[in-house]
Amino acid sequence: MDNPQLFDNHGRELSYLRLAVTDRCNLRCTYCMPAEGINYLPERELLSWEEMFRLTRIMHEMGIKKVRITGGEPFVRNGLVEFLTELAGLSDLEICLTTNGVFIGDYIDTLQILGVRHINLSLDSLDRDRFHQITRRDDFAKVYENLICLIDAGFQVKINAVVMQGKNEEDIIALTEFARTHPVSVRFIEEMPFNGCGLVEEKLFWDHVRILERIRSQFPDLKARPFLFGETAKTYDIPGFKGNFGIIAAFSRTFCGTCNRIRLTAKGQVKTCLYDDGVFDLKAYLRGGVSDEEIKTQLMTLFKARSLDGFEAEKNRKGVITESMTTIGG
Ligand code: SAM
Ligand code: SF4
Repeated sequence: MDNPQLFDNHGRELSYLRLAVTDRCNLRCTYCMPAEGINYLPERELLSWEEMFRLTRIMHEMGIKKVRITGGEPFVRNGLVEFLTELAGLSDLEICLTTNGVFIGDYIDTLQILGVRHINLSLDSLDRDRFHQITRRDDFAKVYENLICLIDAGFQVKINAVVMQGKNEEDIIALTEFARTHPVSVRFIEEMPFNGCGLVEEKLFWDHVRILERIRSQFPDLKARPFLFGETAKTYDIPGFKGNFGIIAAFSRTFCGTCNRIRLTAKGQVKTCLYDDGVFDLKAYLRGGVSDEEIKTQLMTLFKARSLDGFEAEKNRKGVITESMTTIGG
């Protein structure tokens, strides 16, 4: 099959689909969900595995080259392995996964067999108590054990850590240190307002500039890598380290000019920017009995009307941000 290229209305190549396969999660990270959780959708309002496979296949045919399975927590929905097995049958599609790491230990062999090599694991703290406070669950030991198993098994692991004032600033250096002895990329993420209640500090304290300053104060000889198209992280090397670290200016939105991502939420909304409120109900359209060609035409219309950046997308929303990241997938 030829490998078509897909471009948006701003000339940015679209090659990456982020697919949220569920809105449910076993953790309750404070930056993502309220303690009581969110109103989870009934199963029929989520895309089925068959629908997700069809849409991924169609987007792959249009030019998507990489899919990231996310959520909610992907491992809490029954049928994930069968779905990954089907995806693995699509030629030249890179399959990546984002997880909180609690359940992945049982699936390491399967993931290897399926050729899933890239795992992003969320870990905001290396301290058990802080981890508990942030995730509202006492699962640090399991997550850490699974992280080490993934590294030992040779997966390409990225650690995602949201940096929050008063919650885990001690972990900036501790997590960076982790990359000294482990071949991982530790990525520090600016906190965004997708916490399920819309309550946010007026000003982001730990923005990308401040995070870098903190790391530089400890590691003055760090070196920036060139910024690559499609990356959201600015990556840095530190001499003598097996791994590296990156900073994702997710709230400051410094990378929109090279954004190559399309999102599909668990309930089948297309998002052409993380900050939009869903630009099309693909689930309803699909369930209306349309052909693959009609879906492609509809998607192309959406892809040719993308916002220039996250600020424009946010301005075009119908209301302020109150949704939880668990419905979006990060
Ligand atoms: N449950 C999986 C996990 O935690 O990795 C996958 C879904 S989670 C929504 C995907 C990513 O979004 C995680 O790395 C998480 O840290 C990030 N995230 C969630 N809420 C966020 C927020 N308010 N600001 C920044 N990142 C956030
Ligand atoms: Fe769950 Fe991931 Fe949200 Fe944490 S960030 S509550 S692990 S979906």
